[in-house]
Amino acid sequence: MIDNLKILLHQGKQYIPDVTTAAVPGIFRGRPVILPGAVDEATLTDLCPTGAISPGPVRIDLGKCLFCGECAFAFPEKIRFSTDHKIATNERGHLVIAEGEDTPITLNPDLIRKEISAYFSGSLKLRQVSAGGDNSCEMELNACGNVNFDMGRFGIEFVASPRHADGVVITGPITENMAEPLQICYDAIPDPKIIILAGTDAISGGIFAGSPALDRRFLDKYPVDLYVPGNPVHPLTFINGLLELIRKPK
Ligand code: SF4
Repeated sequence: MIDNLKILLHQGKQYIPDVTTAAVPGIFRGRPVILPGAVDEATLTDLCPTGAISPGPVRIDLGKCLFCGECAFAFPEKIRFSTDHKIATNERGHLVIAEGEDTPITLNPDLIRKEISAYFSGSLKLRQVSAGGDNSCEMELNACGNVNFDMGRFGIEFVASPRHADGVVITGPITENMAEPLQICYDAIPDPKIIILAGTDAISGGIFAGSPALDRRFLDKYPVDLYVPGNPVHPLTFINGLLELIRKPK
């Protein structure tokens, strides 16, 4: 008994007490800041592997960004990545960071469907579909439920069956082969249901965008409730985005 207590004391708290204020280490690349000043914009935009950077004035689309950091390495006087991990939003346009902009990314409350907070603020069950994912976002989503991030304390959990789920979390660029299983999964979820895109591949196709091996028509049919950028997504980005989505309006 004494030994067990000693171990508990030694380990301390395993969970993050407050995920809404938790910070991440300095090496983390979160929301970028594009500083004023002239650079060779053609070289800057050309070095981005996914076309996430557009010129005049410089903008970065986090829905396309791989967070590889190449732009910040090559043009440190122009681009730096902050450690702000709260980059999830429900408005696609909010993922585009413009030059000189240094404001937090939030959800647009007017776009949150009323039934989401009414039904899911205390309990949200999600089915995850890896639609051609590379297992990186999937591993981070698994981590959301571990003792450290403990997403379950908010009543948010992944479930095995879409029939027990309130929504679908899509990872991966949605390959042709996964288009039908994704549709079947979505159809099996009872209404009202939500759609979350987790990771750059899911949001824009990432480095696979435009490939004939993708079939992303599913996204033309339904509104997306939450975009969670990242390559892969960070558990704190995912959890904080969800908490904002399901929070009851004051
Ligand atoms: S960090 Fe993002 S914007 Fe910069 S080069 Fe990589 S993918 Fe492009």
